[in-house]
Amino acid sequence: MEVHNVELTISAVAEKQYPNTQFPEIAFVGRSNVGKSSLTNVLINRNGYARTSSQPGKTQTLNFYNIEDKLFFVDVPGYGYAKTSKANREKWGQMIENYLTQRQQLKGVIALVDGRHAPTSNDITMHEWLKYYGIDILTVATKMDKIVRGKWNKQASLIRKTLALGQDEPLVLFSALTKQGKAEVWQWIEGRMSR
Ligand code: GDP
Repeated sequence: MEVHNVELTISAVAEKQYPNTQFPEIAFVGRSNVGKSSLTNVLINRNGYARTSSQPGKTQTLNFYNIEDKLFFVDVPGYGYAKTSKANREKWGQMIENYLTQRQQLKGVIALVDGRHAPTSNDITMHEWLKYYGIDILTVATKMDKIVRGKWNKQASLIRKTLALGQDEPLVLFSALTKQGKAEVWQWIEGRMSR
């Protein structure tokens, strides 16, 4: 999709604030700093539009971005905050859990992992959890420009193995720098929109 119009509709802290439309929604999850804002910005052809989520201690919100009045990108706060309070973490967990398991408009989740390393235990837990709930997942390995091409296959195998991805579970190797993988991610999103 060629994107020209994007608007942050709401930074929601409660379900009653979620947009009251039937547009399909695609959520983005990953630990803070994994490259979530960078991926989103490449997808919508912007620089610095989606604000970075790597600000520990800030209020946790679900950010709904209206894309061309056709769909919403939903930015889920990065998991693995070491510094936020326990109460804050629990609140985060509950709102996200309800959103991901109950939102009828949600058509798929893009789960980001850092392409340079093996997925973390948090990444694994998140993946197992999404899978348990039957959520359609696209795994995206970020920052691939930091790895020489000759090692991509090996890295992809490591990620697949660590997350126990099945043959039919897609993995896209992505770089915000070279925009490698952008078309594949859009293809996956568009494939979910008509469901
Ligand atoms: P977020 O916290 O998940 O939203 O992560 P950001 O998108 O803010 O990225 C965190 C850091 O990683 C920033 O310094 C980005 O410039 C860097 N980064 C993100 N994606 C890439 C990428 O594909 N390649 C490279 N080289 N750096 C990246």
